[in-house]
Amino acid sequence: MEKIISLSKRRGIIFPSSDIYGGFGSSYDFGPLGVEIKRNIKEAWWRDMVQMHSSVVGLDAAILMSPKIWEASGHLSVGFADELVECKECHKRFRLSELKEEECPECKGRLTEPKQFNLMMKTFIGSLEDESAISYLRAETCQGIYVNFKNVLDSMRLKLPFGIAQIGKSFRNEITTKNFIFRMREFEQMEMQFFCDPKDADKWFDYWKEERLKWYENLGLNMDNLKIYEVPEGDRAHYAKRQIDVMYNFPFGWQEIEGIHNRGDWDLSRHSKYSGVDLSYTDPETKEKYTPYIIETSVGVERSLLAFLCDAYQEIEGGRTTTTESTKEIETVLKFHPKLAPVKIAVLPLLKNKPELIKKSEEVFNMLSKEFICQYDEAGAIGRRYRRQDEIGTPYCITIDFDSLEKNDVTVRDRDTMEQERIQISELVEYFKEKIKD
Ligand code: ATP
Repeated sequence: MEKIISLSKRRGIIFPSSDIYGGFGSSYDFGPLGVEIKRNIKEAWWRDMVQMHSSVVGLDAAILMSPKIWEASGHLSVGFADELVECKECHKRFRLSELKEEECPECKGRLTEPKQFNLMMKTFIGSLEDESAISYLRAETCQGIYVNFKNVLDSMRLKLPFGIAQIGKSFRNEITTKNFIFRMREFEQMEMQFFCDPKDADKWFDYWKEERLKWYENLGLNMDNLKIYEVPEGDRAHYAKRQIDVMYNFPFGWQEIEGIHNRGDWDLSRHSKYSGVDLSYTDPETKEKYTPYIIETSVGVERSLLAFLCDAYQEIEGGRTTTTESTKEIETVLKFHPKLAPVKIAVLPLLKNKPELIKKSEEVFNMLSKEFICQYDEAGAIGRRYRRQDEIGTPYCITIDFDSLEKNDVTVRDRDTMEQERIQISELVEYFKEKIKD
């Protein structure tokens, strides 16, 4: 993890938030490359979950919502609280579920009895800071979906089963925030809520589970590092009739990256009760009336990014790109799937002090950057430039040499095979489109 954290900072993927002020508890900023990876993850998710499913539509609900929503959802009661203990000596707090011993893991001091600690982030709306002004930053994006169920159903003329998908920020006042971006207080979720007839809930649960596993596989994740855990009754979230945690084998152990839940009719029944608005559904053919069941898939953008990053990280011994330098050196390669790579193509003129090569390289860059995120780099020996690109996971490097001027072609180098091919400049866009699609 230390190496991944340091690479992330050095190469502009992830910075600690408020860095020049010494950081700010478990908040992180995504740098120029991190923001591209995040965008790629979100785009891949939206494409697979919304664009490619005619029965799924999108939504972008507000972060600030009526506090009644959080009463109805159970988040303001014990349903959304962690059990905490405090050390009587050093006064640090710990999640009871994460303690391995009965004493303080930091100073071995004695611990208090566990207390409930609610994770909702409170805020005040408007100029008064009294009880009536209290609101909350949403702790999950899905509540915005449930309270829009009727709006979407009526406005889009949909029939069950159908899904509503959303990507957006969520906030939780987490207690333990170790392990880099694994657990943060501000993070993004990609959630899809599928509304169906209760009779079909098991079938849809299995369907979405398979779809979600395929998503990871299609994005190149090593499936040996992924497993599912069927959460037994008693350990499930307060709303879940069935729950699967999709677990990834992080350097710090197996941890959840995605939750798939059968939420039953919990959400719509509760919102019907608390709002007074009937959220049941009448089947237009059978005239049967019921409260739909919800199958939810919920994954964190940053948490999945961390999984993809750990999975892509490879150290290769022996200096595979630099032949003249030490062969004992270790080279770092991020073997991202081309779809996730922050930079798809690096454009590298062979020499920087040759104006004709620079001019041609700029032409190639301008042509390709209309279609792909590209980087232009003319500084340093070519081997070293390849290496800089390998380190950020760029799948393809293009070099422009003197032959390029005459033959209008370039050398394309593949990050993984390191094979090089000459390709006509006029064919490059099609060539890369073919390579980068899945
Ligand atoms: P955990 O047990 O790890 O706190 P959870 O079971 O509370 O997670 P859910 O409420 O099911 O998580 O949220 C769904 C997904 O949202 C998680 O699988 C994770 O990817 C992401 N997520 C939840 N909390 C955080 C957080 N504090 N930081 C980053 N991602 C998070």
